[in-house]
Amino acid sequence: METAAPSAVIVAIDGPSGTGKSSTSKAVAAKLGLRYLDTGAQYRAITWWMITNGIDTDDADAVALAAGKPAIVSGTDPAAPTITVDGVDASGPIRTREVTSKVSAVSAVPEVRALITDLQRSIAAEAEGGIVVEGRDIGTTVLPDADLKVFLTASPEARAARRSGELRGKDAADVAATKEALIKRDAADSGRKTSPLAKAGDAVEVDTTELTLEQVIECVVTLVEEKRAGRK
Ligand code: C5P
Repeated sequence: METAAPSAVIVAIDGPSGTGKSSTSKAVAAKLGLRYLDTGAQYRAITWWMITNGIDTDDADAVALAAGKPAIVSGTDPAAPTITVDGVDASGPIRTREVTSKVSAVSAVPEVRALITDLQRSIAAEAEGGIVVEGRDIGTTVLPDADLKVFLTASPEARAARRSGELRGKDAADVAATKEALIKRDAADSGRKTSPLAKAGDAVEVDTTELTLEQVIECVVTLVEEKRAGRK
C-alpha cells in the first residue's frame, strides 16, 4: 500500500449509523485543512448502480459479477463532497429509502468490499496533507495504520432521533420506525463475515449520546492535534 506524504495525517472515524460520523468528520477535516472521504456514500453508490441496472441486490453472485462495472468517483473537499457513478451525480439518489434498505446486502459481498477498499486506499494515499475517512471498517481493515482511530457510539434512541431530524421528539412514530431500520442495518453490518462494523483495538471510543455536535468535533480535533504534536 502506498502511503501519503510524511506530514499527512490519516484519521479513521468509524461507528454505527446516526452517531454523527459524517457531520463530525466533515467539520474536523474542514477545521484542520484535511480532505474528507465518506465511504458509506461509495457503498450507497454501487448499490444505486445495481438497482438502476436491474441487478437483484439479494443475489450475491450477481452483485459480485457486476461489481467492477460502475466507475465510482468521490470528491474529497469537506466543504462540498461529491459522488458520481459513471460520470453522473449520485449524491441525491444514494440517499433514498430503497438504497438505504439494500446497501447492507450489497456491502456484505466480498468482491464489492475488495474493490471499494482498494479505491479508498488509493484516495487516502493521494490525499495531500491528510484525510479524514469515515465508515465502518476503516480502522480495522481499510487503513489499519491510521494515525488516529475514533469509534463513535450513541444510544439507539439518540441515533434514531438524529437520523430522523426529530431531536425534540415531535414525531414519535417516525423516530420509532427509524430506530427499527437503524438497528436492523447495524445488525447486518456488524454480523457480516467480511470486515464487519467493529471498533479497532487501538481506537478511541467516544460516546456522543450526551454531547452536542460541537463538543464531539472539539473532542476529535483535540485528539488529532495531540497526535500531531506527539509525532513532531
Ligand atoms: O454511512 P452510511 O450510513 O451512509 O453507510 C451506508 C452503508 O454502507 C452501511 O450501512 C454499510 O452497509 C455500508 N458501509 C460499509 N463499510 C463502510 C461504510 C459503509 O459496509 N466503511
